[in-house]
Amino acid sequence: MLMQVLLDRIGDAAGSLEVTDPASGKLVARVRTYAPDEVTGLIAAADTAGRAWAKRTAKDRGRILRAWFDLVMEQQEALAQLMTAECGKPLTESRGEVAYGAAFIEWFAEEGKRAYGETIPSFADGKRVLTLKQPVGTCAAITPWNFPLAMITRKVAPALAAGCAIVVKPAEATPLSALALEVLAHDAGIPADLFRVVPTQDPAAIGQLFCSDPRIRKLSFTGSTAVGKILMAQAAENVARLSLELGGNAPFIVFDDADLDAAVDGAIASKFRNAGQTCVCANRFLVQAGVHDAFVDKLAARVAALKVAPGAEDGSQVGPLIDSAGKDKVERLVGQALASGAVARTGGAASEMGANFYQPTVLTGVEPAMDIAVQEIFGPVAGVIRFESEEEAIRIANDTPYGLAAYFYARDVGRIWRVMEALEYGMVAVNDGILSTEVAPFGGIKQSGLGREGSRHGLDEYLELKYFLLGGV
Ligand code: NAD
Repeated sequence: MLMQVLLDRIGDAAGSLEVTDPASGKLVARVRTYAPDEVTGLIAAADTAGRAWAKRTAKDRGRILRAWFDLVMEQQEALAQLMTAECGKPLTESRGEVAYGAAFIEWFAEEGKRAYGETIPSFADGKRVLTLKQPVGTCAAITPWNFPLAMITRKVAPALAAGCAIVVKPAEATPLSALALEVLAHDAGIPADLFRVVPTQDPAAIGQLFCSDPRIRKLSFTGSTAVGKILMAQAAENVARLSLELGGNAPFIVFDDADLDAAVDGAIASKFRNAGQTCVCANRFLVQAGVHDAFVDKLAARVAALKVAPGAEDGSQVGPLIDSAGKDKVERLVGQALASGAVARTGGAASEMGANFYQPTVLTGVEPAMDIAVQEIFGPVAGVIRFESEEEAIRIANDTPYGLAAYFYARDVGRIWRVMEALEYGMVAVNDGILSTEVAPFGGIKQSGLGREGSRHGLDEYLELKYFLLGGV
C-alpha cells in the first residue's frame, strides 16, 4: 500500500493514540500525543517563527505553499488510502477530498499576493487616509474527523499565506491525514515551527490552552455547534478572533416545477456522500405534493442500488459511519421516526456489512417536528417531508437554529430568486447538490457559525485591517 510510506513517517509504535479503521475496527496506527506544556512550547516557537515568516514577501510565501500543493497532489493516492483507512469514506471520495483540500493551498498561494490595502479620499486638507492588511498573528485550529484533510488546508493555507504561524489539533479519530500534511509541508520548505499538528486525547485541555494563551490571536474551529459555543465562551478571555464552522440542518427542497431526474442526482450527491456525514449534506427533504410520489419512487430506487462496502473496496459508494456512537444515533433517530408514523421506503436498519454500517435509507411521512428533521442525522438517511406551497416550504426550511447550506430544485426564474433570497442560510445551491469549492466563501449564519473559508474572503479571516492616518502633508 502506498500509504505505508507515509505511515512509517508519522506513526509512533509507542504512541498512546490508537487510530482504527471504522470499517473493520482494526488498528491502523498509533501516534504520539502532546501534553499541554509541550503545546505551550510549540506555541512559543510558532510565535517566533511567525514573526520571521511575516517579514517574507507574499510571493516568497506563495512559492513555498505552491511546493506544498505539488507534494500533496503527488501523494494523492497515498493520502487517499490513509484517509479511507482512518475515516472510512469510499476511496473515490478520499481522492476527491485530497484534490479539494489541495486546491485551497493552490488558491491561497496566489491570493496571499492580493492582500491589498486602500487609499481613502481624505476627510481634511493636509491629511491622508490609508488602510493596510497585516497578519493577525499566531493562530490555532481545531478540526473534525469527517474531512480530515480539507478542513485543515482550509485553515492552514490562508493562515500561512497571510503571514501567520498555526498550531492544529486534529480530531482524535483522524490524526493521520493531518500528520501527513504536516510532513509534506515541512518537506516543501515550510519551517517546522510555523505549522505544527498536535494530536491529543484531551481535546478540552488543548482547546482551553489555545484560548488562554495570549499569543494565540485567532482560533479557527470546525466541528459541532456545542463545542463551538464552549470555545466562543473561552475565547472571550483574550478576545481572540474566532472562525466557527459548525453544524447544519440543510433543507433540500424539490418544487413542482423541478427537473426530477436532476433533483434525484443532486439528492444522491448531497445526502449520501461520506455516508451522510457532512455538515452541508441534505438533512431534510421537502418535496411539493404534486411531485412527491414520483420523486420518492425515483429516489428510493437509486438509494436501494447504492453499494454499501468498506471504503477501500472497489465500487464502494457508502462506507461505514465513523464509530458505534455515530451508528447508535442514526438508529435512534430512525427508530423514533418509524414509531411516530414515518415509513421506510428502503433501508431503515443497520447493515450487515459490519459493526459501524447503516443501510442507505429513504423515509416518507416525516414531520418537521420529528427529531430526525431537527437534529443533524450524520448518516445515510433521507427523510422526506411533504409540503403544499412555496411559503410553507420556506417557513419549514428556516425553522431551525442552523443556517449553513440549503438546496432547492425549481425552474421558474422568479421562484428561484424569491426562494434563494428568503432562505436564511450562508450558502444556497439551486439545481445542484454539491457546492463546496475553494473559489467561493464557505460558511454559515445563525448557530452554524462565524466567518468564511475559501475565496478571497477566507484570507481576510487571518488579516487585521489597520487604519493609517498621515497628517502634516
Ligand atoms: P466535535 O465538535 O465533537 O469535534 C470537533 C473537534 O473539536 C475535534 O477535534 C474534537 O477533538 C474537538 N473538541 C471536542 N471537544 C472539545 C472541547 N471541549 N474543546 C476543544 N475542542 C474540542 O465534532 P465532530 O463530531 O468531530 O464533527 C462533526 C461536527 O462538525 C458536525 O456537527 C458537523 O456539522 C461539523 N462540521 C462542520 C463543518 C463546517 O464547515 N461548518 C465541516 C465539517 C464538520
